Amino acid sequence: MLDLIFPDVCSGCDTPVSNIYHMCDGCISGVNFVSDFSSCERCGTPFGFFSDEYHDTVEAALSLPNPGHLCGRCLRVKFYFDAARSVVIYDGKIRDMIHEFKYRGRLGLEGYLASLMIESFPYPRGEFDIVVPVPMHISKLREREYNQSAVLAYRLARGIGAGCDLLTFRKIRNTRPQIELGNEEERRRNVRGAFSVASPGSFRNKSILLVDDVFTTGSTFDECAREILKSGASRVSVFTLSRAKGI
Ligand SMILES: [Zn+2]
Ligand SMILES: [Zn+2]
Repeated sequence: MLDLIFPDVCSGCDTPVSNIYHMCDGCISGVNFVSDFSSCERCGTPFGFFSDEYHDTVEAALSLPNPGHLCGRCLRVKFYFDAARSVVIYDGKIRDMIHEFKYRGRLGLEGYLASLMIESFPYPRGEFDIVVPVPMHISKLREREYNQSAVLAYRLARGIGAGCDLLTFRKIRNTRPQIELGNEEERRRNVRGAFSVASPGSFRNKSILLVDDVFTTGSTFDECAREILKSGASRVSVFTLSRAKGI
């Protein structure tokens, strides 16, 4: 059931609030923005915040010149998407809010979360033809009743003046949660062939922006981008509300 009636309390700490964002000033000020960190030019992983992350920068260790300011992961392997960016670090209060929005049907939070994405939109506006959410498999959609990525993608597309396509890109096979898998190779295998472009003509020569709530290691986005490019899209970039620590 969707909980459409909200008590006037902060989503982060339950103190009374009277703004439309369902978040108090204290909790808003505790949010870490990715833009406060220097990040990998390609995948957008913030250097320094996830200090023990496997794809943190290795430029110092390898003593390599790093002209593009790339992380260790991007120095080794090229993602299919040309860039990925996120607004906030998946942490503390904002993680609680995303969790409420995603698993507990707090759909009213979408206004605040989508506005964060619109206000912090990192790409030149007009650069994308179609905004596409990372799709959910039908069995999970029945369970959860809505796809949080589609909710964000739809609002974002309206906010930046781009088209939004919620139907063409589909998840055709259910997969295990990536978080349960131990390494990059397992995650890659888990999502391989799990997505499909229903009518390839729709994406031909189009510039696609792929949207989701959280970016973790990028394996899912990489597989989505591979499939979308295969259908003739000219490019795929990624934009997520938040950035989580990779495994
Ligand atoms: Zn609060
Ligand atoms: Zn990178």
